[in-house]
Amino acid sequence: MASLKPKNASGAVLLSKLTKDVFIKNISEARAAEGDIEHFCFNKSRLRVVSKTDDLKKNSKGIIYLMSRDCRVEDNWAVLYSQKLALQNKLPLHICVLTKEFNCLYPTKRHLHFALEGFKEIQKECEVKKIGFHFLKANVKDFVKIVEDNQIGAVVLDFDPLKKPVEWRNYLKDNLDKNVALIEVDAHNIVPAWLASEKQEVMAKTIRPKITKQLPEYLTGFPEVCKHNYQGKLDTDKKLKNVDDVYDFYKPLYDVEIVKWAKPGAEGAYNTLLSFMQERLQYYGISSNDPSKNHTSNLSPWIRFGHIAAQRVALEVKSVEKNCKEQVDKYLEELIVRRELAENYCFYNSNYDNINGAAEWARKTLLDHKSDKRVYTYTRDQFEKALTHDEMWNAATLQLVQEGKIHGYMRMYWCKKILEWTKTPEEAIEIGLWLNDTFSLDGTCPNGFVGVMWSICCVHDQGWGEREIFGKIRFMVDYSLKRKFNMEAYCARFGRSIGKTSAKKGVKRKAK
Ligand SMILES: Cc1cc2nc3c(=O)[nH]c(=O)nc-3n(C[C@H](O)[C@H](O)[C@H](O)COP(=O)(O)OP(=O)(O)OC[C@H]3O[C@@H](n4cnc5c(N)ncnc54)[C@H](O)[C@@H]3O)c2cc1C
Repeated sequence: MASLKPKNASGAVLLSKLTKDVFIKNISEARAAEGDIEHFCFNKSRLRVVSKTDDLKKNSKGIIYLMSRDCRVEDNWAVLYSQKLALQNKLPLHICVLTKEFNCLYPTKRHLHFALEGFKEIQKECEVKKIGFHFLKANVKDFVKIVEDNQIGAVVLDFDPLKKPVEWRNYLKDNLDKNVALIEVDAHNIVPAWLASEKQEVMAKTIRPKITKQLPEYLTGFPEVCKHNYQGKLDTDKKLKNVDDVYDFYKPLYDVEIVKWAKPGAEGAYNTLLSFMQERLQYYGISSNDPSKNHTSNLSPWIRFGHIAAQRVALEVKSVEKNCKEQVDKYLEELIVRRELAENYCFYNSNYDNINGAAEWARKTLLDHKSDKRVYTYTRDQFEKALTHDEMWNAATLQLVQEGKIHGYMRMYWCKKILEWTKTPEEAIEIGLWLNDTFSLDGTCPNGFVGVMWSICCVHDQGWGEREIFGKIRFMVDYSLKRKFNMEAYCARFGRSIGKTSAKKGVKRKAK
């Protein structure tokens, strides 16, 4: 897999060094001797045992890693742990994907295409590594029977704080044979979500010291997945042979066009990381907020689909910090602190997708202003079709619909305007989430829920001066965007001009 790793400007392979820390012992030996992965010391706090026992069922015939969120082979603690378990017990390893549960993971053709093209790479890598890879025409219920029929000793799951995956985990906990070990691994976060903090954090400044303190323990290199020594069949009539079969079988809920700029899979992710480090990192925190410029990493789709580990991105970016320390620090603040703060919110707050997830003061201020007069109101359909009076907002929506991603800074403005132009804050959250999750390639992830809740409910933010509709929720004005950035250029990319048609007045500040 070394060929997939990015190279830096001087051409050196950017494989972050695997340090000989206490958690990855004898790593060079483990890498050198194929099949020796059981000798590497896995930091067990990356996993949680969901079942009563983590002992393997007696006379087991295999281990399954149920892949749903972290869809990659290398740099994946869930694959590494599953393989270690399988090798230690001389068992075959199977990676399974439940295609009947795709609705909540891949709601549109756009998301499905990105996921399946990534799975094509995974399938090939599994062939090389002699690991079984299976698309199953099954949901979690069917999966229980497959585990039973195949005398599987342990099932390893991806950690995911969102409702559906939590439901799956609980279903498996209640329905798998009590002798089967069920283990959840946080392969998505650098510091496992259950250790980053023991409670819902108020804002970045409260979680930052907790995460920073734990980084020396968790921001480590990855050992390589090795060729698996033990093979075995997974017997079930629910197998789909390849990606084409999955395309035939699973029809997504919405027919949203695929996007061309983002090549799915680990290779696409590494190339994007490479171009970021070579061309855009130097501007991070300087002009990365400017919507008319492409100065951010653009990595969010691959991180969302698990095609690249945030930990790999952090290691690579950190490896060049001596060249541009300030930019690297700013980037790692977003990638690690802000992203893991979003995970923390969804992990501890089951109302992450509605107004009840707001702090009491924020909910109250929104409800106090619920009946304020709205100068403009639009329906979901009008929003989707970019038919508002504000051409900057329309351009952002066209970017979302056409490119599958709005520039990060515009996302805030975009969502706050939905609050301003809908009848109620509840409706604003619903529409904001629907648009984000349907069209954004990186949608349906904790960052998306928190982005919408930050914009509308001030989650992780503080109270501001009282205004109509917004109450104490932070407000954003169009003239400030126009003053700071070349918004004419941004709009022109989508065939719009802010010249005459933009909003003349925003919502007024309420007189004290
Ligand atoms: C209304 C709204 C909706 C959003 N929806 C999503 C979404 O669906 N998916 C998503 O990944 N992000 C979302 N964000 C957060 C942020 O805008 C995106 O992560 C960022 O724009 C992705 O582009 P990038 O990878 O180029 O970011 P970069 O600026 O290069 O950042 C690097 C990485 O840091 C993380 N990150 C950056 N900003 C944030 C943030 N504010 N909160 C949490 N993590 C962050 C992401 O993983 C991102 O890939 C949303 C923000 C708002 C205000």
